[in-house]
Amino acid sequence: MPPTYEASIEYAQNQDRIDTLFPFRERFLFPQHNGEDVRYFCGNSLGLQPKSVSYLMEKELQDWAKHGVEGHFRAGYPWFSYHHFYTDRLAKIVGAGKDEVVAMNTLTVNLHLLMVSFYRPQGKRYKILMEAGAFPSDQYAVETQVRMHGFDPEDAIIEIAPKDGAYLIEHQDIINAIKDAGETLALVMIGGVNYYTGQFFDLESITKAAHSVGAYAGFDLAHAVGNMPLQLHNWNVDFACWCSYKYLNSGPGGVGGAYVHERFGNDPKFFRLGGWWGNDEKTRFKMQKGFIPQKGAASWQISNAPVFNMVAHNASLDVFEKAGMKALREKSLLLTGYMEFLLKQVTHLPFEIITPADPAQRGCQLSMLFKEKGREVFDLLTQNGIIADWREPNVIRIAPVPLYNTFEDCYRFYEVMMEIA
Ligand SMILES: *Cc1c(COP(=O)(O)O)cnc(C)c1O
Repeated sequence: MPPTYEASIEYAQNQDRIDTLFPFRERFLFPQHNGEDVRYFCGNSLGLQPKSVSYLMEKELQDWAKHGVEGHFRAGYPWFSYHHFYTDRLAKIVGAGKDEVVAMNTLTVNLHLLMVSFYRPQGKRYKILMEAGAFPSDQYAVETQVRMHGFDPEDAIIEIAPKDGAYLIEHQDIINAIKDAGETLALVMIGGVNYYTGQFFDLESITKAAHSVGAYAGFDLAHAVGNMPLQLHNWNVDFACWCSYKYLNSGPGGVGGAYVHERFGNDPKFFRLGGWWGNDEKTRFKMQKGFIPQKGAASWQISNAPVFNMVAHNASLDVFEKAGMKALREKSLLLTGYMEFLLKQVTHLPFEIITPADPAQRGCQLSMLFKEKGREVFDLLTQNGIIADWREPNVIRIAPVPLYNTFEDCYRFYEVMMEIA
């Protein structure tokens, strides 16, 4: 049964009253506008700061002051093992085993490191399939990986675009293209949720199709992690990477993440670039020749862990653990459904929602494509204390995130839209 929404402030406030996740809002700091919290719809771009971060950061600074180098073993959370403290929580968010995930580096760097392992062209198998209009960083990464192996991106990269006049990519078009590429295909690398349209792809069947032609399947989960329920292990995905500053609220430039299926993580002969942090922890300090990868995704680590960066990550994952992805997704479906319902009442402005109408094919984000006046609407929203995201040439993206957005936020957004002439 679809919920029966109402476009009224009473309805919105009542939904907030019965929302069991409502108190989580209190755990975050909101930018201010005229002395009040803004209505923040940009969690898909940069998540808000958990209040616990400044306390935890201060503690880490004190440990550094107090212990110096000894902090590696004596800090409250010893730095030597810092990246281990929250791996189980991270693993739950992406639906993987504890050994299959690691927080390290940043997103595009992780994509490169993983492609070094998973894009190893051989003979006529050298092509990469990705979505057209992928996030620029992903395009650049794929383009230069292809060049590194001596191929021409025009020839080696297969891009799947929406049909003429459409905004979304048809699932079957992806599957057909994989089958058509057949044994020329080395890798499928797609953004799990498209950053522009908010379209979520069926990662399980894409993986299956890739495997059926002998290719690997990897995903950039920048807009999916902490947003969509994921089952990377059960879907048999080969690898994935993500950033932590969007839905995972871990701050600008926050530490990225990577997933590698255990069949590769546990195979020491599977190639990965080496560094001391990826080496077996027992021999890491023996200063011997010969890289011995430790077990799991952690063996893709290269340098020692960026502890200060991980403080915010740790704090945020703690909030996720308490809220639970299942409850977050349930609220997300209702909240985004409500936002969509309200936007459909706004008939006097020239826009359409290009995000899939099917909730199974989207997370919390909705993208509004304006025929005209987009920038004007965006500026008026901003002046009214609503933080949305503008994408050239004509799209406003909004993300009512279940951790800290409310039904009232959605209503206020709608109210401002209704007042625009
Ligand atoms: C946000 C985002 C990035 C950003 O990459 P960084 O390496 O973290 O700067 C890359 N790819 C996609 C799909 C993104 O959404």
